[in-house]
Amino acid sequence: MSEINRAVKGTNDILPSDSHNWQFVEGKMLEIAKLYGFNEIRVPVFEHTEVFLRSVGDTTDVVQKEMYTFDDKGGRSITLRPELTAGVIRSAIENGLVNAALPVKVCYIGGCYRYEKPQAGRLREFHQFGVECIGSAEPSADAEVIALAGQVLADIGVKKISLEINSIGCPECRKAYHAALKEYFASNKDKLCGTCLDRLERNPMRILDCKSPVCSGIAAGAPVVLDYLCDDCKAHFESVKEYLKAMGISYTVNPHIVRGLDYYTRTVFEFVSGDIGAQSTVCGGGRYDGLIAQMGGPQVPSLGFGMGIERLMLVLKSQNAELPKAQKPDLYIAPLDRSARLKAAELCAKLRAEGYKTETDLCARGLKAQMKFADKIGAKFSLVLGEDEITLKKAKIKNMLDGEITEINLDKIEEDFGEIIREQIFKNIAEVI
Ligand code: ATP
Ligand code: MG
Repeated sequence: MSEINRAVKGTNDILPSDSHNWQFVEGKMLEIAKLYGFNEIRVPVFEHTEVFLRSVGDTTDVVQKEMYTFDDKGGRSITLRPELTAGVIRSAIENGLVNAALPVKVCYIGGCYRYEKPQAGRLREFHQFGVECIGSAEPSADAEVIALAGQVLADIGVKKISLEINSIGCPECRKAYHAALKEYFASNKDKLCGTCLDRLERNPMRILDCKSPVCSGIAAGAPVVLDYLCDDCKAHFESVKEYLKAMGISYTVNPHIVRGLDYYTRTVFEFVSGDIGAQSTVCGGGRYDGLIAQMGGPQVPSLGFGMGIERLMLVLKSQNAELPKAQKPDLYIAPLDRSARLKAAELCAKLRAEGYKTETDLCARGLKAQMKFADKIGAKFSLVLGEDEITLKKAKIKNMLDGEITEINLDKIEEDFGEIIREQIFKNIAEVI
């Protein structure tokens, strides 16, 4: 197949047969976010490269290996967003949200771009749902953001997923931790990969997130950050746990979580699934108390998370979650000739104006082929429209499931068809009872 017929490696089409699942999932995300007071923000797909260098951090995998960066025709260095937090914070500073009544609670859904090795759950274009709670340093905010992510997963239909939390402290307590890490990794220097050797000098915590099996093997025995927390960070973490308990949210403390982006401080968390193989983190987030100041804004503490929608879809599929079925047409109108097609268009317009999902022939097919098509698209009812029906202004509506026929008046098709639909609903309810 030539390139023109092939999507770029690591990108996926979401086809009409699957898009209703995406609409359901994204609808739930926005609905639950609203329930917690988070309103949607939409930011550009690309930003000045500096936005990501300053925030994500130049010793991370994302910046070192994964960004889609190019010069535009005006000579600016532009990067397709690898995540949304950086752009959202850039916007919050630029538009004065960080000076408004705090906390400002926003959510987003959007595409992200990372040049990674494509595999199950790891794409070059993927989608994230996320939230940012800007302007609270309180542990209650950490718990609220975690609760929101948990409720989204549960309400969408994820049956089993575990929440892992950790604290990676503040810049103060991290000094001692960095020193301990440096000492530990220096003794394993000859085994570390090239990238991690560089990280050893500049940001030893990043080694803990290295994907190479050798480095991660060494990292498994490294000192854990929880042992190095200052009193304030320790108290914050204890309080987050208390809030989670009060909200009935179960978790495990995993002292090895450090997250792949540099801006995190204190609380970090992941929702991890055992059902989707190696790419098991569906949602990752945490606090980033220093990020807004680091990006040129005021000192405003914040936190948030990003949830990978493709990975979430894999979890739903592997757990056989029940998602709502795609909506089928209420009625298919099958015209027999050219003038009937015109009448069919008129009837469709009337029915659609009343909200009935109505379809008709757009390919000038014969009756047999039309009925086959009506069956294929799952129409609940059908109506054959010929000269007689048009002259007498009467037609028969056929229930495609049980074959039952009801006669209707074409002049008041919306009323008569409405009656049929209501009867059908009562019949369905009666069957359930
Ligand atoms: P990983 O360790 O798996 O590379 P990450 O730490 O780079 O993940 P984040 O930057 O925290 O991930 O992004 C949040 C979420 O976005 C992840 O938990 C995951 O669900 C999703 N995600 C990240 N990268 C990809 C990708 N390349 N393809 C699909 N989903 C992704
Ligand atoms: Mg990654």
